[in-house]
Amino acid sequence: MLAAQVLIDGPSELVFDYAIPEGVEVVPGHRVKIPLRNRPASGTVLRVHEPVELNFDLRPLHSLIDPDPLITPGLLQLADWMTGYYGTPLEHIMRSLLPEAVRQENHSEKTVKQAIATENIEPEVLTQLAKRAKRQHAILSLLQATGSEGMPISQLGDGAASPVKALAEKGLITLKDIAVQRDPEGDETFLHDPVKKLNPEQDAALNQIKASLDHPEERTPILLHGITGSGKTEVYLQATAAALKTGRSVIVLLPEISLTPQTVQRFKSRFSETPELVAILHSTLTQGERFDEWHRIRKGVARVVIGARSAIFAPLPDLGLILVDEEHETTYKQENPPKYHGRDLAVVRAHLEQATIVLGSATPSVESYHNSREKEKYQLVPLTKRADGQALPLVRIVDMRNEPKKGGPPILSQRLRHAMEQKLAAGDQIILFLNRRGFARSLTCPTCGHTCECAHCSIPTTYHRAEERLICHLCGYQAIVPRTCPKCQDPAIRLQGYGTEKVEEILRKVFPKSRLARLDGDTVRKKHVLKRTLADFKARKIDILLGTQMIAKGLDFPNVTLVGVLNADLSLNAPDFRAGERTFSLLTQVAGRAGRGEMEGEVFIQTFVPHSPSIQFARHHDFEGFVEQELEFREKYHFPPFSHLALLSTRSRHEKRAEFTLQTIHRRLSEDPAPGLEIGLPNPNPIVKAHDLHRFQLLLRHRNPRTLTRHIHQVLAKLPIPEDVILVTDIDPHDFS
Ligand code: ADP
Ligand code: ZN
Repeated sequence: MLAAQVLIDGPSELVFDYAIPEGVEVVPGHRVKIPLRNRPASGTVLRVHEPVELNFDLRPLHSLIDPDPLITPGLLQLADWMTGYYGTPLEHIMRSLLPEAVRQENHSEKTVKQAIATENIEPEVLTQLAKRAKRQHAILSLLQATGSEGMPISQLGDGAASPVKALAEKGLITLKDIAVQRDPEGDETFLHDPVKKLNPEQDAALNQIKASLDHPEERTPILLHGITGSGKTEVYLQATAAALKTGRSVIVLLPEISLTPQTVQRFKSRFSETPELVAILHSTLTQGERFDEWHRIRKGVARVVIGARSAIFAPLPDLGLILVDEEHETTYKQENPPKYHGRDLAVVRAHLEQATIVLGSATPSVESYHNSREKEKYQLVPLTKRADGQALPLVRIVDMRNEPKKGGPPILSQRLRHAMEQKLAAGDQIILFLNRRGFARSLTCPTCGHTCECAHCSIPTTYHRAEERLICHLCGYQAIVPRTCPKCQDPAIRLQGYGTEKVEEILRKVFPKSRLARLDGDTVRKKHVLKRTLADFKARKIDILLGTQMIAKGLDFPNVTLVGVLNADLSLNAPDFRAGERTFSLLTQVAGRAGRGEMEGEVFIQTFVPHSPSIQFARHHDFEGFVEQELEFREKYHFPPFSHLALLSTRSRHEKRAEFTLQTIHRRLSEDPAPGLEIGLPNPNPIVKAHDLHRFQLLLRHRNPRTLTRHIHQVLAKLPIPEDVILVTDIDPHDFS
């Protein structure tokens, strides 16, 4: 006898076996009703298997909720792959595959009562009605005009209820419950955006994608390396249309959907004649909207799904194409368990479902680039020219070590300031970029060197003027600003470093007549600020746009001729082997915002380390140069793509417990390691305390990620972890803080 292993709905991730009743056909992915203790419950079938021998009978499951399994076979295969690769149990992965909103039955579809006129009504009946029941006659004529579609009763006007009832009783109309869509963006309209004629490079790229769509057996992932402004989005749009034409559906992954409004907008505009085809999975959808969107996708009504990393789990029945925009972005890595990488899952899913996959970027990740060059696992398709024929902007490096002598505010060099004056006088627009929000980086005492830190995390708090508070950017803790040093009582305690809030204040003094807007995590907390500010900037109601990384990506403003990077060194100093790569890519992306229209662009990069390779290669728009050097460094020190990493981290309120537990794990891991496995030493994390938890970490390396997962799994299976210690395993980690 076979049993169904069922993951019970609810927060506790219970998994039980149930007997499958005679005549009921159950497969993994089915939603089922089951008895749980004395009450009915619902769940999802994970597996169908021989149950272990028991000395009691399994209770049978009640019934199927839906006749078809809700999870597609392809997604179940993807989930299996994830358990092998990341070592995450299937029940954790199911949460991602079947969102909360879909598992809860009370979000069921929203319906309206629709009235439909019966066909072939005798003319005499109508004449009679016209004489005796004018209101009924009017409604019936209206409904006849709408044909078999009918109309919602609510639209028939006040007082329609009783005539409608009378008409229904006479059999002249029928009433039906019709499912309606909760439309998250119902109040927006999109103008149609006509298809552009591709330039030869774009055309070649599109043809490669089409060739792959036509020959699923020969397809290899396509790495679309297109410089900023080369028209990658236009290629995505036409590739999407091509895939739809073959009858298959499309997933478009974006690094962060709220930060890429222009890309979303372009998809909506291009497909504005068939808006029902497009589903956009915002993180801000209500549960009801999410339920609707999910079922629209599952039924094959919505065939283009646009979303952030979790959209890779969209249950499209007939997937033909996956597009991953800005494939190098670290936001594709999920930082909560299961800690998957959305881009990597996209490659795997495409393989499992015989779909074409395109990874696009102006600065491909070192891993993907390596896959295309050395290993020939990917096809490299270049777009080397800007679509508008413009040259890439001229990039100037400003050595900030010389600035103090010149007397200006040390965050705004004299050269950048002069350039801004000229552009403003000419009526051009400017973007300034600083990747730190708040007013000042920290509050530090010049006498004893004390820096105010978060009470729960081992990082300095940032001064925010608007709130008049010190705020921790990790956990949100807020503290009152001390008048004197908390340690030595010296009143000379001072704000150090610059955040966007402070730069805004400086800019208002230096350029009092210019219209300035600031976009960062603090200002966009209010709804619509981001959208409205970008729209105002596009309409040239703003001269200077100052912001954090949220203005670095995907924005296309033709009148921006000057971009200033106020401090290029922030991302260079991160304790991370990818710091150079991140800096290079961030600078390239930011610089790409300049000179997009008719006018040439200029970029100023302010730095204290002007000779740093990431900065110099970005200055010369030299991706190949950067990546060659980076690959040499990675190979020499055994970093990805020349190895895979696993990061084990213990966290506890008790420092010693966290440390001791990790030491024990380290000892066990070292006892019988797989050949080629490199095991580091347990160390405190660079941020040793966060959210009141002390953190220690251990890095492992091996060429084969599955060997890492298997070895860790074998050791941990036999090693109980104390209750007050949390252990986090991260395969292919991106965050080492
Ligand atoms: P990327 O995504 O590579 O940064 P975009 O797709 O944003 O580049 O394209 C940059 C600009 O060029 C956009 O304004 C876009 O509308 C325009 N563009 C793209 N392709 C073409 C084309 N074939 N003909 C004319 N304009 C184009
Ligand atoms: Zn904190």
